[in-house]
Amino acid sequence: MPLWRRRRFFDRFKHGKAGNSTVADPKRAHAIRKSKLDSHMAAWAAATAGDCFLEPILDLHSWELQEIRHWQSAELQHVRIIAWTPGRAHPCPACTALAGQLRPLADEVRNPSLPPVNCTCTAPGSTAPGFCLCSYEGVFDDELAAHRS
Ligand SMILES: [Zn+2]
Ligand SMILES: [Zn+2]
Repeated sequence: MPLWRRRRFFDRFKHGKAGNSTVADPKRAHAIRKSKLDSHMAAWAAATAGDCFLEPILDLHSWELQEIRHWQSAELQHVRIIAWTPGRAHPCPACTALAGQLRPLADEVRNPSLPPVNCTCTAPGSTAPGFCLCSYEGVFDDELAAHRS
């Protein structure tokens, strides 16, 4: 997730604009964030070493969803897919096709769209496909209503 989007997302919680959103367990929230960052770093380390990075990439996307879900807001039931790839202007066609798509959070948790099976994104300096660093952002119900009207 680009930094400005992440900031906008977390600002809503900080400023109490997210209705009855609560973080049930700040320690758990911290553990989820740490696992997400660890997966991200493990993916980079594996790609740099020429090893298989599929497992940390899958973990990364799973932790992203768990992080959003952990906010436990009744008004946060959807995610938007943010397509992004490191070191290039555009992600691969498979990831680009998902850009901006809205999905029910519960569906994504059960059956994640990321990484797309035919992703051909690569890490800089590597030719191995599937290095998908696209991400999810939480979409509040009021944003969804504005989007659809
Ligand atoms: Zn891709
Ligand atoms: Zn991707």
